[in-house]
This record gives sequence, C-alpha cells and structure tokens, in this order.
Amino acid sequence: MTELALPGALATPTIADALPRLSLIGLDRDQLGAALRPLGVPERQLRMRASQLWGWLYVRGATDFAVMTDIAKELRAELGRAFTLARPEIVSEQVSEDGTRKWLLRLPDGREIETVYIPEEDRGTLCISSQVGCTLTCTFCHTGTQKLVRNLTTGEIVGQIMLARDRVGDWPDGIAPDPRGLPVSDRKITNVVLMGMGEPLYNFDNVRDACAIVSDGEGLSISKRRITLSTSGVVPNIARTGAEIGCMLAVSLHAVRDALRNELVPINKKWPVKDLLAACRAYPGLSNAKRITFEYVMLKGVNDSIADAKALVKLLAKIPAKINLIPFNPWPGAPYECSDWEQIEKFAEVVNRAGYASPVRSPRGRDIMAACGQLKSASVKQRASERFSPSI
Ligand code: SAH
Ligand code: SF4
Repeated sequence: MTELALPGALATPTIADALPRLSLIGLDRDQLGAALRPLGVPERQLRMRASQLWGWLYVRGATDFAVMTDIAKELRAELGRAFTLARPEIVSEQVSEDGTRKWLLRLPDGREIETVYIPEEDRGTLCISSQVGCTLTCTFCHTGTQKLVRNLTTGEIVGQIMLARDRVGDWPDGIAPDPRGLPVSDRKITNVVLMGMGEPLYNFDNVRDACAIVSDGEGLSISKRRITLSTSGVVPNIARTGAEIGCMLAVSLHAVRDALRNELVPINKKWPVKDLLAACRAYPGLSNAKRITFEYVMLKGVNDSIADAKALVKLLAKIPAKINLIPFNPWPGAPYECSDWEQIEKFAEVVNRAGYASPVRSPRGRDIMAACGQLKSASVKQRASERFSPSI
C-alpha cells in the first residue's frame, strides 16, 4: 500500500515514522489529551483540543484528519504522522436475505472477530464481540471450541460500532451544524448487545471503558438502557457491572438444575444457579421497566421438557425478568439438535402463561451463519478447506 504524503509531512524521517501508528479510536477525553501533549499542544489548550478531537471521532465519525477543519493544519499533519483513525479491517461483509449483515474483521495482530447488524422495524441492533474466542467451553456454543483467545482492547470494542456505523451510513453529515447529529429516531444502530464472541465479564475493564465511551451523550450516544451485556454467569462481576457500567444485563441460564447446567455451561461448577440468581436479585435498579433477560437455548430432549419450563418460571419468580427462548443454532459437529418447533411452542406457552410475553427469539441471518453461537464457523471452515486444499 502506498501512503500519500500530507503537505508538511516531508521532513526527514525519524525512528517514530517507522513505528506502527496507533489508532485514536477507543481513547476517552483524558487519553486524547495525553496523546496530544507530546505533539506540542500547549497545556492550556489540551482540554479544548481533546474535546474537538473527541467530537470528530465519536460525533461525526471522521476517518481522516484532513476533515478536522477547526484544528490547525500543522497539528492535523502531526496527528496524521503519529496516529490513525483506523477501525478494524474488514475481511468480508455478508448480507443475509433478511437484511442481517455480518462482518468478519481483522485486528492489528491478525486475529479475527465477527460483528453482526440486525435491522428490525423499530430498532437496529448491533451484536459485538468482547474477546477473540472464549475461554469458557459451553457445550452448545461454537465460539467455545476456538483455541485462540485474547481480550479485545477498548478500541477494538468501540471500533466495531464505528465500523458498523460507517458501513450502514449512520453518521451525521460530517459538516452538519447540529453537533448532536442525527435525531435518535433516525439512527440505524439504536441498540448494542455484547452477545458476539467472548465472555464480556472476563474482559471487564475494557468492556466498562468501551461502554462509557459508547454511552456518552455527547458522542456515540447509545444510552446504557440500550446496551445489553450478556454473561454466562461470572457472578462476582455482575455486581461490578451494576456499579461500574450500569447497562442492561442478560444471563445465559439454559438450565434450571445444577447437574445439567454444569454440563451445558461449565462455569456453573464455580458459580452455581443459586449464587447466580442471588447476584441477579441484587442487580441495581431492577423494576418492571428494567428487567434482566434470561436466555435459554432450546436443546432437543436435553432442557426442553414441560417440567423444565415450569421449574424455570418458578426459579425466576420475584425477579423482574424477561425470558428469551433461543432455538439452538446448529454448527458443524455440534452435539445437540434444536428442539422441535412444537415443543418450543409448548414450552413457550408455559412461560407465557406465567406472564412473560413472546419469549422466542427468531433466528436472524441463519443463511450467513450470523446467528447466536455460530460466529466464526464459516471462517474456520474456510481456513480448514484452504489448509487441506489439494493444490497445497
Ligand atoms: N459469553 C456470553 C455472551 C456471548 S454468547 C454468554 O454466554 O452469555 C451470546 C448468547 O448466545 C448466549 O446466551 C449463548 O448461550 C447463546 N448461544 C451460544 N451458542 C448458541 C447456539 N449454538 N445456539 C443458540 N444460542 C447460542
Ligand atoms: Fe463463551 Fe458465551 Fe459461548 Fe459460553 S456461550 S462458550 S461463555 S461465548
């Protein structure tokens, strides 16, 4: 790739020019100030300059320092030499028949993650990843079979939202006079769910910092009521989520008895159902308007009996809860089958009668393997076929 020299960028190359430039995406106002200091910005201007940069990054979605017309040309050139505004690199973009979009993204170290956009009539939900792979090994989840695992940085988490906004055209006009940008109702990405790859509560600090940037009312502006973090049950960090993040909580329950949950969600051996539910009951601010979502994957002949349904509603009594029944999404080699539709309906009826409305989550983007627990499948398959291709 050739890089265009910016005017004023023709000075003798220094060692700094040879170092990889860092993306500013994921930095908060203080960190942006700290990034500007070595570029010679006077101390008394730091806050103002950092706030200008913040606005270009998170309100307008600038992808080039050149558009930042209220920042002096020389400083823009300096910024361009020291930093980038890079989002994760797109390896592929797939669009499903139902409008769901899935991006396979490459991170600077070559690792890959996936992000999924699900448009609906009244909202647009972006499902983002918090880790490369997952250290947990839930038996029905394909992500759990992946070997390579690392935490995503704050920038890599925020970068998924920035990139999705770029691709679906969800930024206000770069020169829009209204600094708050598009009215919320016109927004394409209205909700964010941390339900992609990884266990967000095993990457607590970066997830917390990313949520703070994403929910900032003078920035990306996705309110904490519209950000849902899904956990398999890292109990000690549920209280921290309430205290330090304040977003909506979803819990991957999947079984009502410890013996079965130990098998499906092995982290249950560490923090059993009783402890998990106690942490849920203590989650701050719960009310009928602010409920915890309990996710329950429907596995044929495993957890889908009527007795299970009854035990489920009994277990959740008195917790302001929503129940999300997720038809199991198969992946190559999966040891389970999805419950029959008839059985899901019977199960749902018990749940409905207990007062929970329309609990079945319809699978989206199945044709592009974008549904829950399928992330990474296609790319892994592709790699395998590349590896074993007869031409190699
Ligand atoms: N690690 C977190 C968040 C990512 S998984 C968690 O486990 O909650 C997001 C949701 O997808 C979880 O409820 C998970 O149990 C569910 N899921 C995983 N694999 C699935 C599959 N094959 N079919 C349906 N849902 C699945
Ligand atoms: Fe990890 Fe969630 Fe998959 Fe379990 S379900 S392996 S916690 S991503």
